[in-house]
Amino acid sequence: MSANLRNLRSVEYYRMIDKILRFLRETPRRIVLTSHWNPDGDAIGSALGFAHYLHGQGYHVDVVFPNLPSIPLQACLGYSSDFVHVHSLSTEHSEAVIETADVLFSLDYNVSSRVGEKMSLLIENFSGHKIIVDHHEGPDLTYDFVFSMTSKSSTCEMVYELIEKDGGNIDHACADNLLTGLITDTGSFRFPKTSNRTMQIAGKLIEAGGVPHVIHDRLFDSNPKSRLLLWGRALSNLEISKDGFAAIIFLRKADLNEFNYVSGDTEGIVNQGLGVVGVLISVFIREDGPGKVKLSFRSKGNVDVNKYSRSHWSGGGHKNASGGSSDLSVEDTINRFKSTFNETLINA
Ligand code: 5GP
Ligand code: MN
Repeated sequence: MSANLRNLRSVEYYRMIDKILRFLRETPRRIVLTSHWNPDGDAIGSALGFAHYLHGQGYHVDVVFPNLPSIPLQACLGYSSDFVHVHSLSTEHSEAVIETADVLFSLDYNVSSRVGEKMSLLIENFSGHKIIVDHHEGPDLTYDFVFSMTSKSSTCEMVYELIEKDGGNIDHACADNLLTGLITDTGSFRFPKTSNRTMQIAGKLIEAGGVPHVIHDRLFDSNPKSRLLLWGRALSNLEISKDGFAAIIFLRKADLNEFNYVSGDTEGIVNQGLGVVGVLISVFIREDGPGKVKLSFRSKGNVDVNKYSRSHWSGGGHKNASGGSSDLSVEDTINRFKSTFNETLINA
């Protein structure tokens, strides 16, 4: 990207922050913050962090998650507060919350289908003002405000920038949640989108009371034994393609049952494939049921798994981290991957 285009993008970025803040200040409104299906640390952190901030500024705020996050994320500060609702658990109440709101934020997702079938119609038909804050490619441009930047490490980084420009106070709960999102989406500050700015923001969040080792312990060192055994099974299934460029890791439904799988247990397994020397693309394949197979992709450098996942697996995400799904058996999914992944290597 040329320096001029970069500058232009950055002007637009800060202009959008001003527009959103001006809009929010105009009149007090009921705000609902939503995030994607199977909310991860960035989705939870951005929603709860922003909710704590907006609440402190005197707004009426609710958070609606489509379904329950994994157990370590339920330990996020403020997760069990009475302003947090889970659509799959209290559907009627969550729908009433969304329908009576004036402003709806879509945090950490780009299109309504990412909240799952049951909640997506509510998002599509929402009659108030809609705002996207997100870092995935291909945002829904029909929203009233599209605050989207794919070069950002995390949605939490973008929420921080909104809050900083607003000039308000970041309390401990807000800092803890935003730092949780930064840590998860940057793989503990090691993924390529970790920038100078990401680290500055992490520093500010630590100053405001976020404690990295406590967050790290909550996210990564609070595993039940069964989860490590499940990882062991997945890693013992590791296969490297003949050319050495692709890693394939899979778990069958029977493996999930054997180790009492709960949502979130397989988070991060896909990254292990990239740890093999020479591997540029890694896939993790999880059989959730017959013909219900979830795929996660990770890649290095110019290997674009967002494009690949969109064209072959009805998915999407980012250039180096994406996901999709398959209605084939595990074997057929693996074979299809083996016969198609080469196209991602063209620019590698
Ligand atoms: P994960 O592999 O951790 O589930 O997802 C990696 C990234 O890809 C996340 O940013 C997530 O939002 C995105 N992603 C995962 N699955 C899908 C999918 O089925 N469709 C789309 N559009 N994005 C996905
Ligand atoms: Mn994110």
